[in-house]
Amino acid sequence: MSLKPLLPGALSDRGQQMTLGVMGGGQLGRMFVQAAQAMGYFTAVLDPDPASPAGLISHHHIKTAYDDEQGLAQLMQRCDAITTEFENVPAPALVTLGAHRPVAPSAKCVGIAQDRIKEKAHFAQAAAISGVAPGPNAAIETEADLAQVPDHLFPGILKTARLGYDGKGQVGVASRADLASAWQGLGSVACVLEKRLQLVSECSVIVARGADGQAVSFPVQKNTHIDGILALTEVFEGAVPADLAQRAQAATLAIAQHLNYVGVLCVEYFVVKNEAGALDLVVNEMAPRPHNSGHYTQNACDLSQFEAQVRALAGLPLPTPRQHSPAIMVNLLGDLWFNPNGVRPQASAEAVSPPWAQVLALPGTHLHLYGKLSARPGRKMGHLNITGPSVAAVRETTARVLALLGLPALMG
Ligand code: ADP
Ligand code: MG
Repeated sequence: MSLKPLLPGALSDRGQQMTLGVMGGGQLGRMFVQAAQAMGYFTAVLDPDPASPAGLISHHHIKTAYDDEQGLAQLMQRCDAITTEFENVPAPALVTLGAHRPVAPSAKCVGIAQDRIKEKAHFAQAAAISGVAPGPNAAIETEADLAQVPDHLFPGILKTARLGYDGKGQVGVASRADLASAWQGLGSVACVLEKRLQLVSECSVIVARGADGQAVSFPVQKNTHIDGILALTEVFEGAVPADLAQRAQAATLAIAQHLNYVGVLCVEYFVVKNEAGALDLVVNEMAPRPHNSGHYTQNACDLSQFEAQVRALAGLPLPTPRQHSPAIMVNLLGDLWFNPNGVRPQASAEAVSPPWAQVLALPGTHLHLYGKLSARPGRKMGHLNITGPSVAAVRETTARVLALLGLPALMG
């Protein structure tokens, strides 16, 4: 990538307004577009869905498949640099784009992050410098691999190597006797079997790294999942023990450096007890983009993860982000539209807006909805960031928000 910054609001070498592009038009693309536009960039989104959240608000929306040659050609014609908002963009499309425009993260990095087998191999290699290793696991690519799986991985979780997200593409495997049928149930595709670990908690770290190798880390996020989907993120001093937080930040920077990564990267960790009974970290997976657990940065830090993505892509400086308020983020899934106030709906119930006016009457509540045209159970509709003058105030407001929305008390 060129180190010459793409200055916002300037005319580009193409003689057009400086334009940043994104592969994918979901909510992450939308928030990238919002951050880019706030700084004065024009934007282009490639997503086949005419109602995609990012496409709806972008200067340009190219509505083709991700591997459509004409669509990719149009995107290159429109843009001065291109990023991605989801890891399942076909890697060859990024190779095509990267031959003509700065693309960050690179096709190579996205290719590693979209395949759990490669991802784990990278984590294992990087462990010498990151100090944090992946948990016990084995790759299963062919039927012959099933018999090679060591006994200590049971009970385990079988995960497809590709295309899994929010707990999809995963199945519990109690014992070796269940392995073959579990693998067939996932379509006999390439998988990873992981030992099921006793998690004390989960956390994640977001880093941003420029083409010049300069990298910064955001604070460590403590994450609570329900049914494999992120429900709540807490970020304040003490949410994650300080020594673990420091190790997780250093490990994430090392992983990014080892990949020669450019852009925003999120790495997820498990907190476990080691054999000596002390808390320890295990690296789980990474996302080559901003992450749901980093949304609190929009309201609690002086640099959001999306502005960091814009800056890394455009070759602008990346000062260390400062968190200026303790924060909790609550994910808003489509279930809430059918379950306002926690009252179980009829099967045929129509979607109803949750009680936003009551929620927004509480101080320090910041509502982000993604402009999705219809709610569905499990669909990520938005998130709510809660900030305040103290951890106690943020927790108190969050408890009231959760009660208003009929969500269980999720704070640790
Ligand atoms: P996804 O791509 O769906 O986020 P993850 O590998 O992060 O996939 O798994 C989703 C969640 O499932 C994790 O956040 C964690 O709560 C749980 N989980 C995944 N792997 C393990 C494991 N090896 N042991 C215990 N819990 C796990
Ligand atoms: Mg995950």
